[in-house]
Amino acid sequence: MTDKLPPVHPATFAAQAGGDIDAETGAIVPPLHMATTYIRDPDNGYSKGFIYGRPDNATVRQAEAVVTRLEGGAATLLSGSGMTAATCAFLALERPAHIVAPEVMYWALKLWLREDAKSHGLDVTFVDGADMQAITAAIQPGRTKMIWLETPANPLWTVSDIAAAAALAHAHGALLGVDSTVATPVLSQPLLLGADVVMHAATKYLNGHSDVVAGTLTFARKDAYFERADRMRKMLGGIIGPFEAMLLMRGMRTLHLRVAHQSRSAMTVARHFATDPRVAEVLYPGLESHAGHAIAARQMQGGFSGMLSIRVKAGTEAAIRTAAHVRIWKRATSLGGVESLIEHRASVEGAGSPCPPDLLRLSVGLEHVDDLIADLGQALGANA
Ligand code: PLP
Repeated sequence: MTDKLPPVHPATFAAQAGGDIDAETGAIVPPLHMATTYIRDPDNGYSKGFIYGRPDNATVRQAEAVVTRLEGGAATLLSGSGMTAATCAFLALERPAHIVAPEVMYWALKLWLREDAKSHGLDVTFVDGADMQAITAAIQPGRTKMIWLETPANPLWTVSDIAAAAALAHAHGALLGVDSTVATPVLSQPLLLGADVVMHAATKYLNGHSDVVAGTLTFARKDAYFERADRMRKMLGGIIGPFEAMLLMRGMRTLHLRVAHQSRSAMTVARHFATDPRVAEVLYPGLESHAGHAIAARQMQGGFSGMLSIRVKAGTEAAIRTAAHVRIWKRATSLGGVESLIEHRASVEGAGSPCPPDLLRLSVGLEHVDDLIADLGQALGANA
């Protein structure tokens, strides 16, 4: 690879996937490296730096370099899913380890922290992630190794103060980890606010086309914590396949464009339904009525994400009926793709979830916003 870019904005770096030109062919799209094994030198060495496909791959490295640059970090590990990345962030902690995590967060990761983490020597205390006093009170001096936040957090879009949590974690010798899937590096860069590791379900906005499952961990430093996470991925084989890494890199070329558009449309949808009498509440950090608006305005730039939720005034059955009557929004789980998704979230999260049963989660895509508003409006009308 040749012709690296001069210092540029993250959007430029992403648009050109790092700007590499293939030395052999001059191709401006990087070649896809599918090989699982590499030729040894006659002197028995591996002078090109690649040995085997489980620890390393050139296409994966290239996608990692883009994420590292977008997050302003020192190194990124790309894994086969967001869950692989997130659980690796916890499993790489030194033991004994106590973790402080938010009550409102991606449900499957919370389930793992609640039911599986203990068997890996990890104790977890769940607190209101928007309440710094509650986070402070949950710290166990000497035992707490990590504060974990998701911001904005699924599905209420609870906002946590990253800089304050980083200062608190560091005062107690702990790390701050942030699931920044919804904010994306376009709107928020947790490492620059003091976090030690930032995680993405790259399945969502980073890829953006609902056709890759992937996860990333980007580290502030290449320190012992990074080394343990790196070793874990090598040993357990959590690396993503090269084809998926290539698709992810292609997706990231349009990340800034997509996220800006989706954030604008989400704000329009939020404002529209905030005054709809059939809607009890719109949850969106971009609205001044949202409890986390002031902090979100401070730590997010250029928008408040493409994710929002509405609570249907007529109740749970009406919410499910609304989702059944959309024609443009797609009734599906996940988020961050080019197509808009609607989901009755409590049906997914089950008992013990903080998600109200009348809530519909909306992932705003790239369709014309007037079509999205009209479609949701007519679906809400199905309850009349
Ligand atoms: N974090 C958040 C905020 C998510 O929404 C998800 C998936 O929905 C994950 C983590 C897990 O990602 P994956 O499904 O790629 O394992």
